[in-house]
Amino acid sequence: MEQKTTVTLLELAAKSLLSNEPAAIHALGEIPRDLFVPLFNTAFLGGHKMMLKAMVSLWPFRCLHIGSLNAQESCYDILEAMIDGLPIHPAQNSSSWAPKLRILDLRHDPDCETTCSEIQTTLPFCIQSCIYSQYSILKIEEAQRGVRCPGIGNSGSERQSAQEPMELVVDISLSSTLRTEQFHSFLCNKVQQSFGSLHLCCRDLQIDGISAHKSILQFLDLGCIDHLEMDQVCLSEVASLLARVIHLNSLSLSNIPFKSYKERKRRSFLHWLGRLDNLQDFGLASFCLTDQLHEVLRDVTVLSQSSQATHLRVLNLSNNRLFSGVYEPFQSLLEKVSGTLQHLEINNCMLTDSALSAILPALSRCTHLRVLSFAFNPITMPMLKSVLQHLTSLMELKHVIYPVPVHCYEEWNIQDSLDRQKLAEVQAQLQAMLHGAQRDNMNWVTCSE
Ligand SMILES: [Zn+2]
Ligand SMILES: [Zn+2]
Repeated sequence: MEQKTTVTLLELAAKSLLSNEPAAIHALGEIPRDLFVPLFNTAFLGGHKMMLKAMVSLWPFRCLHIGSLNAQESCYDILEAMIDGLPIHPAQNSSSWAPKLRILDLRHDPDCETTCSEIQTTLPFCIQSCIYSQYSILKIEEAQRGVRCPGIGNSGSERQSAQEPMELVVDISLSSTLRTEQFHSFLCNKVQQSFGSLHLCCRDLQIDGISAHKSILQFLDLGCIDHLEMDQVCLSEVASLLARVIHLNSLSLSNIPFKSYKERKRRSFLHWLGRLDNLQDFGLASFCLTDQLHEVLRDVTVLSQSSQATHLRVLNLSNNRLFSGVYEPFQSLLEKVSGTLQHLEINNCMLTDSALSAILPALSRCTHLRVLSFAFNPITMPMLKSVLQHLTSLMELKHVIYPVPVHCYEEWNIQDSLDRQKLAEVQAQLQAMLHGAQRDNMNWVTCSE
């Protein structure tokens, strides 16, 4: 109660200060440190760009995370104002303390506080510090402290600035809008102006094939990326990126016509895919896989067996014609990841009764499965019942999205020919079976619900 009252008072003080922004900016060097976080939150939500810039330049803590804050309007203007405030040149400092900001984190993350506790005195002082790049604070300071690591000495001497190393953490989406491109050039300029003291750290990269402006990639250390999404990108481009994103734990590739590429390009892609030892989430939606599936899956199987592998938790193979008579690779993959897989999507894969019955034993051994989605596959009612019977023993499985069985359609998968009465009967039967198996906590729905 007492703490809540204090927070409210600080917020009121912040609002009152912001009612006269120029005076507040002028007084920023004198205000108590405790007021910075509530003042920052209020300034961010209200879009006070000048104040945000001034606050970043005098920020009295070592890190600043946007965290759960959502910008109301013109998000890029606000982000640019904050980046502009980064003290990448030694500043004239009129405040009563030395500005401390070393990490500016512009990612939206509902679980992240505005600043990390300062109890931690050793590196890394911030939970979001970059741990991979040779340009990270961690690696540079290790090198400066004389802990010589191979390969770091040279990069350190390239830095021409006496400025302490800093990190700017952003998610980047190459989606080709004019404003996004302007923001990216702004980022690149900032990195250039810092003469090596600012590490632009991107953990989440999305590439849309239509995007022509990929020059920002030259400014990134792709080793920092843990989450990569690519849509409509050519396979050789995917392969060359995979060669560099060595710490990836989530990969999603969609709308890539795998089978239309030459053998050499496919092999190169599979080679680099097989080297992603940290991969946990893997999606190949609309990858145009047919007879090449076994090739890809064999590689993924190798991947899941590798000694350092943190096995797959999420697998999405939707929108591929997966099961044209060859079930073994998928079966064996399921067996390999049965101890870790939590989320499986195989929607719209032309999965038939015979394919499903072949993989069902392996599927029912995935004891950590929480979500299974296999909608839009031509399955009969007896098969659907058999699947339910096999899966009720998976106690962590709570959410299943199942295909509407074929007998409910006059013409399979044509929405207009769906007999809703028959579907209601299906749902009632499944519900009764779940109840009989004492699995009322399992939710079976169709995609339309
Ligand atoms: Zn932090
Ligand atoms: Zn980094």
